[in-house]
Amino acid sequence: MKAAPASQKRLLDLAEVDSVLDRLAHRRRTLPELAEIDELAARVARLATQVIAAETEAGDLAREQSKAETDVDAVRARVERDQKRLDSGQVSSPKDLAGLQSEIASLTRRQGDLEEVVLEIMERRETADGQVATLSAERDELAAARAAAEDRRDAAFAEIDKELGEVKAKRSGVAADVPADLLSLYEKLREQFGVGAAMLQGGRCLGCRTSLSIADVNRIKAAPHDEVIRCEECRRILVRTPESGL
Ligand SMILES: [Zn+2]
Repeated sequence: MKAAPASQKRLLDLAEVDSVLDRLAHRRRTLPELAEIDELAARVARLATQVIAAETEAGDLAREQSKAETDVDAVRARVERDQKRLDSGQVSSPKDLAGLQSEIASLTRRQGDLEEVVLEIMERRETADGQVATLSAERDELAAARAAAEDRRDAAFAEIDKELGEVKAKRSGVAADVPADLLSLYEKLREQFGVGAAMLQGGRCLGCRTSLSIADVNRIKAAPHDEVIRCEECRRILVRTPESGL
């Protein structure tokens, strides 16, 4: 391939602009906020699961408490009914009276036991409700931290994208100076190796840092100025400049 030396030198400008684009893209990919957001999102998700488990437990205990309270109410109602019968004087037989009193005593004990159960459930429920509150607060705090990190990420993205836009515009200007066939070779190499063209300096390819053999240097020296030279080692376009030392 042939290309005017000035066009070949323009490839070095293009490579420089492309390295800025690569750095910006790398910065965009590796923003610390991205890892931070991922970590916070995972923690929020874990906490959300824990909140659901705690809420389920608190809900179960609320139902258990309500059922135990219904049991207490039923026993209390029976005690009250028996007490009314006792107080009404309708039961006169000593045997029936004794039976009624014994039933009241036994129901009262039962009521006491059931009230103990209610109290015990209430204590467990208080703990469970506290757990729900603690975990929910922690989850909300982390969700807020995640939202803040997302805002910082978006601000950084906006800044990088603005710079990317400017550098891309500059790149179009530089690329316009490069003939189509040379540009397409450069693009192909860039895709393959990350860099499409490198300067030949002091007998070295600055792309792969390989020192060329005397034979290669002599061959390049003998080549016409508009010949497009490739590095034998990395296959990049090797651009000759006054700094090449040929
Ligand atoms: Zn090379």
